[in-house]
Amino acid sequence: MQLLDGKKLAQELKDQLKEEVELIKAKDRKTPKLVNIIIGDDAGSCTYANSQKKVAEYIGIKYELKSLPANCTQEDFCALIQKLNNDKSVNGIMLHKPVPEQIDYSVVANYVDTVKDLEGVNVTNIGKMILGETNIIPCTPASVMEHLKSTGHSLRGLEVVIVGASQIVGKPLSILLLKEMATVTVCHIGTSEAGRLEEHIARADVLVVAVGVPKLIKGEWIKDGAIVVDVGINVIDGKVVGDVDFETAQEKASFITPVPGGVGPLTVVLLMRNGIEAYKMQKEQS
Ligand code: NAD
Repeated sequence: MQLLDGKKLAQELKDQLKEEVELIKAKDRKTPKLVNIIIGDDAGSCTYANSQKKVAEYIGIKYELKSLPANCTQEDFCALIQKLNNDKSVNGIMLHKPVPEQIDYSVVANYVDTVKDLEGVNVTNIGKMILGETNIIPCTPASVMEHLKSTGHSLRGLEVVIVGASQIVGKPLSILLLKEMATVTVCHIGTSEAGRLEEHIARADVLVVAVGVPKLIKGEWIKDGAIVVDVGINVIDGKVVGDVDFETAQEKASFITPVPGGVGPLTVVLLMRNGIEAYKMQKEQS
């Protein structure tokens, strides 16, 4: 069994992006700039924003945090997005979740200019991703793809089973895997209710789990030699665990991600990669 080390992959990508940004600065005499909008003072969001800031600094891109009060209206939020859309010095915008209940995330996400949509969450970019027409890919599924690439195995023709069909992980991931010519099965709560989760998992050459139920997947369900990517983040007794029972799964898997230290650390670097892609798209358009 080999560990898929997300921290190592994150460091390699950070160094690669740092070089790319140095070239951009030397050639264009410009520095890509990303803005993150946070509403209120949610502790989790602030921690995540801090780690984004550190990565941005390392890579050499500008990162600005804009805060709105917890009682701001949807109009306030959209007005700020509009201002950033019109600001030529801003190349990428992300909207931090959670948002308060007076804000409809699906509405505000679509206010972000398509070429500044860092997280690839507006409907145009989701459509473009399905058609394979954009390099701005949602970060968590992109991180899963990078982990799979790091195994050195082609995905063509492999049986890939995804457990979890959310908008931010399972659904976009299924599209990215199809592009690699994998045979993709997406399982969800309906699969479990029908008692059929184990039979799908048993034939998976590659298993990706993004559910949010600690240790849902048992090692004995997993095919010998399978590649296992665990996206889940759950806290039990103050300890972070995944959706896969790591102890038993590592007996069966050829490659497996640890939790923590797997998919998570790479996602923030991939956000920066999206920012650089956004910069390049805007340069082409100008
Ligand atoms: P979600 O709640 O939006 O979706 C969960 C999915 O799991 C749904 O499709 C649901 O049908 C399915 N599901 C629920 N219970 C199930 C069961 N018993 N059997 C089979 N399927 C079941 O969740 P999400 O936002 O996609 O997040 C999933 C997990 O991934 C969470 O633990 C979250 O914290 C984690 N996550 C991690 C990262 C990262 O960077 N590592 C990023 C995003 C999400």
